[in-house]
Amino acid sequence: MWRYLPDLLARPVPRYTSYPTAAEFAPLDGPAALRGALAALPSGPRLSLYLHIPFCREICWYCGCNTARANRAERLSAYLEALRAEVALLAREVPRGFALSRVSLGGGSPNALAPEQLLDLMDAVEAGFGRAPELSIEIDPRTFTQGFAEALAQLRPTHASLGVQTFDRRLQERIGRVQDEEAVRRAIAWLREAGVASLNLDLMYGLPGQQVADVEAACARAVALGADRVALFGYAHVPNLVKRQRRIAADALPGPETRFRMAEAGHAVLTRLGFEPVGFDHFARPGDGLAIAARARTLRRNFQGFTDDDADAVLGLGASAISVLPTLLLQNEKNSGRYRMRTLAGRLAGACGIERSAEDRARGKVIADILCHGEALLAPCCDDADVERALLPFRSARLVEVRQGRLLLAPDARPYARAIAAAFDRYRTQPQDRFSSAI
Ligand code: SF4
Repeated sequence: MWRYLPDLLARPVPRYTSYPTAAEFAPLDGPAALRGALAALPSGPRLSLYLHIPFCREICWYCGCNTARANRAERLSAYLEALRAEVALLAREVPRGFALSRVSLGGGSPNALAPEQLLDLMDAVEAGFGRAPELSIEIDPRTFTQGFAEALAQLRPTHASLGVQTFDRRLQERIGRVQDEEAVRRAIAWLREAGVASLNLDLMYGLPGQQVADVEAACARAVALGADRVALFGYAHVPNLVKRQRRIAADALPGPETRFRMAEAGHAVLTRLGFEPVGFDHFARPGDGLAIAARARTLRRNFQGFTDDDADAVLGLGASAISVLPTLLLQNEKNSGRYRMRTLAGRLAGACGIERSAEDRARGKVIADILCHGEALLAPCCDDADVERALLPFRSARLVEVRQGRLLLAPDARPYARAIAAAFDRYRTQPQDRFSSAI
């Protein structure tokens, strides 16, 4: 049984999909910053692309993504025109001799596009960057059609991620996302036919009215349906930041200890069924690339969560997409209208972000290593009184120890990993309500 130490989880902390986090982003001259960061990459860099499709056919109440209802065809095609323009602009900027390792389509729901729109977009990507050996896509099973699956098959996808959250109709109604299990089953069959070898199912705990047994049942169901990976996220209720969450009944949300037991129960079911834990909220079959990367210590963390993508840089395209380079985090213009005006005028879309100092990179590596591997070699900049003070309660609880300059998390420290990582965050010394609970 995991030890529940509420005082150590009380402080809201970031999910650390980057360091510094997006909370530290500020306006900057995006095109100049991007050119500088691309020039600083090693020669012949490996690049990945992330294309953001900020539209969904139906909007779920809990969703914190930058997405809007895809209810007007002209709005979607206008956005795609801008996205193709950005692809062409960016292709002129990337260093010669680069190798494209992966293209990821996320959102929103990429399957809000019509099949021919998907193919047109990917033609533009191929014209600018060539074809990547790996293609990953997020799919909303509620609106996934056979026509879209057939178009996708032409692109030879390797990875797909299905939004499921829960199989329980009663819970689905409480979060504004009703989907039959049959839709999930059908989506899985079509994705397998299209060639997807690595299939992720997203699940959630901490939903209104949810019990520990519901989480156990959902995890078992995901395995029975043939998932290769499961991401089990804690629902973050922040209606002051995400207005659509106001429709969710806050008084039916489980309390902190129940959330903790839900995470524990999901972990127990998935590991009992043969999945390996990856990071603090992902699980994968032993033969899946994510589990292999975790064992080989090559696992990474980026804006898409835990990943086995080993590219030197991820370039984000589309409104609000974030590019991650060693010396720069850069976010595109968030507003779709302004994004469109900018890219169609021939300007790169990066509008805000942060240039990463050597100290940011050193601390970022410590934070990522804690989250990915449960241990980290402490950089000299981390040897200060603030870190020492922040780690003290975790050391006293025997959740961490420092041995020969290396921070080691105890086997039962997994639920505290984000809180421990926050000790190394020099931007965050005070609690802030924009982040979610640590479990
Ligand atoms: S389908 Fe996914 S991206 Fe779209 S609203 Fe629902 S959770 Fe958000």
